[in-house]
Amino acid sequence: MARPIQAHIDLSALENNLHVARRTTFARIMSVIKADGYGHGLLHVAEALAATDGYALLDIRDAVRLREAGYRQTILLLEGFFGAAELPVIAEYDLTSVIHSAWQIDMLDAYPGNGKLDVWLKVNTGMNRLGFTPEQVSLAMEQLRRHRAVRDITLMTHFANADEARGVAGPLALFNDVAAAHRVARSMANSAALLRYPATHGDWVRPGIMLYGASPFVDVSTQQLGLKPAMTLSSRIIATQELRAGDEVGYGALFRAEHNMRIGIVACGYADGYPRSAQNGTPILVDGQRTQMLGRVSMDMLYVDLSALPQCDVGSRVVLWGEGLPIEEVARAAGTVSYELMCALTPRVPIKL
Ligand SMILES: *Cc1c(COP(=O)(O)O)cnc(C)c1O
Repeated sequence: MARPIQAHIDLSALENNLHVARRTTFARIMSVIKADGYGHGLLHVAEALAATDGYALLDIRDAVRLREAGYRQTILLLEGFFGAAELPVIAEYDLTSVIHSAWQIDMLDAYPGNGKLDVWLKVNTGMNRLGFTPEQVSLAMEQLRRHRAVRDITLMTHFANADEARGVAGPLALFNDVAAAHRVARSMANSAALLRYPATHGDWVRPGIMLYGASPFVDVSTQQLGLKPAMTLSSRIIATQELRAGDEVGYGALFRAEHNMRIGIVACGYADGYPRSAQNGTPILVDGQRTQMLGRVSMDMLYVDLSALPQCDVGSRVVLWGEGLPIEEVARAAGTVSYELMCALTPRVPIKL
C-alpha cells in the first residue's frame, strides 16, 4: 500500500468553470495555467480546458510541452523571454511573448528572424510590477510596429485590486486612454475583473483561479459564482492516540487536552504542501464530517480531533480541502489564499483523475 495522500483532480469541474467564463464574456479566453496549472498538473488542465482560445504560462519548457502535445491555440509567455536564447524557440513553436521592459525590445533588435513573433505589450497602470508606464507606451509601440521580427501586437495590463473594494476604475481609465491611440487588441481582466467588471473584458480575458473552482473574492463563495472546485486533497488516518486531560500534542506542545479525548494522525504534512501556518482549529473533514486540526503541522503528518467522531479510526478518509471543504476556508485559517495552497502542493503528492 502506498502512502494514502493524493490530489484528486476533477476534469469536469475545470470544463464547467471554463463554461462559466464563456457565459460571462464575449471576449476570447486566455486560460492561465502557470505554476503547473495552479498545482493541478499542466497537461491534465490543458486537456480539460481544450475549448479555450489560448493558454498563458511562464515557463517556456511548459509552452513547448503544450505545442508538442498538439495544442494549436495561442500560447502566451506571461513574463516573456528572459534571454536571447529563447527567441528562436519562441519563433519555432509559435509562442506569444509579453514585452514588459525596454531591455526585451533591445534583445529583439539583435534577433535575426523576420516577421514571426506575436507580442503582448504590457502597460503598468499602477501595480508597479511589470510593464511600461503610460508615457513610455507610444515609443515602445512604435519600436514594435516597425520591428522586422514582430507580427501582431496586443496591449495588456494587470489590475492590482480587481478583487478588492478599490476595484479597477483608475487603472481601467488609464489603460483605455493609452489604448485609444492604438488600433490593437486589448487584454486586462483576471478572474476577479472578468466576474465583476464587464468593462474590462476587451478582446481577451485571462482567468486563472476561477477555472480551478476557487473564488477570487473574500465575500463571494465558489458556489455563488457557479464554480466547482477541481482539486480535492485527501489522505487517511494512520494512527490514533487517547489523550488524558493535560496531555500535549506535537512539536512545541501547541495543543493541550483539557479533558480526555481521542485524536487521529493524518498522513499529510508541510512536505506535501499543507501549510505549516495552519492553526489549532483549522477545519478538516474525517469520513465526510467536519472536525478540527490540532497542534503544529509536522513535515509528514498532522493531528485531527476525533473526540466527537467515535466511529472514525485508522483508515478513515480525511479531506484537507476540496470536496465538502472549500479551500478558501482552509486558506483563511492558515493566513493565506487558495492560490498559494494550490501551488504549494509538492511533487510527492500523486495526482489522480
Ligand atoms: C496569474 C495571472 C492572471 C490570472 O489571475 P487570477 O486571479 O488567477 O484569475 C492573469 N493575468 C496575469 C498577468 C497573471 O499573472
